Amino acid sequence: MNTTFHSTRGTSEQLTSRQAIRQGLADDGGLFVTDDLGKQKVDVATLVGKSYQDMARTVLGALLPDFSASELDECVSAAYGSQWLDSAITPLKPLGDDYILELFNGPTSAFKDVALQILPQFMARTSSAESSTNEKVMVLTATSGDTGKAALAGFADTPGTGITVFYPEGKVSEIQRLQMTTQTGSNVNVCAVKGNFDDAQTAVKRIFGDKDLATKLEAGNSVSLSSANSINVGRLVPQVVYYFSAYTQLVERGVIKIGDEVGFIVPTGNFGDILAGYYAKKLGLPVGGLTVASDRNNVLFDFLTTGTYNRERPFYETTSPSMDILVSSNLERMLYYMSDGDTKLIRGLMDDLQDKGSFTIPEALLKRIRGLFSCGWADEDQVSQAITDCWNANHYVIDPHTACGYHALAQMPRETVTPRVLLSTASPYKFPRVVGKALGLDTTGTDFDCMDRLSEATGTTAPKNLRGLEHAAERFTDVISIDEMPGYARNASQQL
Ligand SMILES: *Cc1c(COP(=O)(O)O)cnc(C)c1O
Repeated sequence: MNTTFHSTRGTSEQLTSRQAIRQGLADDGGLFVTDDLGKQKVDVATLVGKSYQDMARTVLGALLPDFSASELDECVSAAYGSQWLDSAITPLKPLGDDYILELFNGPTSAFKDVALQILPQFMARTSSAESSTNEKVMVLTATSGDTGKAALAGFADTPGTGITVFYPEGKVSEIQRLQMTTQTGSNVNVCAVKGNFDDAQTAVKRIFGDKDLATKLEAGNSVSLSSANSINVGRLVPQVVYYFSAYTQLVERGVIKIGDEVGFIVPTGNFGDILAGYYAKKLGLPVGGLTVASDRNNVLFDFLTTGTYNRERPFYETTSPSMDILVSSNLERMLYYMSDGDTKLIRGLMDDLQDKGSFTIPEALLKRIRGLFSCGWADEDQVSQAITDCWNANHYVIDPHTACGYHALAQMPRETVTPRVLLSTASPYKFPRVVGKALGLDTTGTDFDCMDRLSEATGTTAPKNLRGLEHAAERFTDVISIDEMPGYARNASQQL
């Protein structure tokens, strides 16, 4: 089948899904979308009783038609194997009258593993037959914490690819830093940058736009640059699978019948996690509503309330760093589909965002979006309170990102019988100090002391990949300025 992808901002560039994955971002700055999304439906009834891996093969087959069944089979087997702590991959658990979908049982204990365990598999199968066989890819990523480690774990020792991660010095948690600096593998590079996440992200985008550097790398070393950020189609589509998984688990428990609607509450930053729920709906899953949960950086809450997206606002560093985002990139894809593919409108909105720092969508479009998407947000006190409340009510420990969702869930009126599923995006053990404090525990000493007290107080166990960091050897200690990033990226690429 000849499904083509093009930019949200224009249709002149037409790519296969393989090319879209390899390239990451469209040349005009837009995100890759396909107008075939949802033309081929997935019959959820056929997935009941199936394994996560079987579901992944079916759902990914519908989203990436130019990958063969056997290729997808190889990708899925490599990505969702014994590196996961739970054989269900994304197990659903009861939470009072509601449910929680655990997305954090992967090798780095964050939901980004769902996508980043499989993206390297896709990437390895994207080099075109006519290109030279030794063509290599360097993946460049700026991280506020979770993406970096998940990308390192996914790409480590993958033939033909390298991975370089930049993180803002002093702005990630001790655990997050150690997760990255202790990463093993011959093709990985980790570097601290003097600046904040936005500075690092902007510099990475500039490196991508540097045609000179790109040409040099391609000519001298046959290396092309790519991105592992959630704008990549290959990161988005694997996340659609767990919405189907949540739904079939509800059917298997006898909570719902096929066709009943389910609502999802989703901790949101770059709009990737929740957009996958919208894609699932387009594939035919009975998604009743999608609730965007934000932290104090509530730019999406304001947008969904007023129709105006305004990034000119203070940036807050919160206890949920992976949701501290002012420009929520994947929103552009939702706007594209909700406006029935109006590339001209999207281009205009994104130009406004660039030039004026804000954009406003037409009233009718806002109304349509609000028919499906609702929103909530939590300030820092509410995040802490939500961790406490969830523990007291359910004896279930949540991390600060999930807590934003828990707060939004608690604020929602319970007027319907539609089951509600809260997506849980990180292990509480990634943020043992914040969680311990919320639960009234002693938080003196190291993060590892906090982990041990959290275990003792709650009867839960820290994942080995996190607890074991205390004695793991640190490999990367470089700290560079923003200006030195292109040089660092070039050196790393030349060593591939
Ligand atoms: C990345 C992340 C989020 C936000 O997901 P988006 O796809 O950016 O909306 C929420 N929680 C955690 C723990 C994350 O790592």
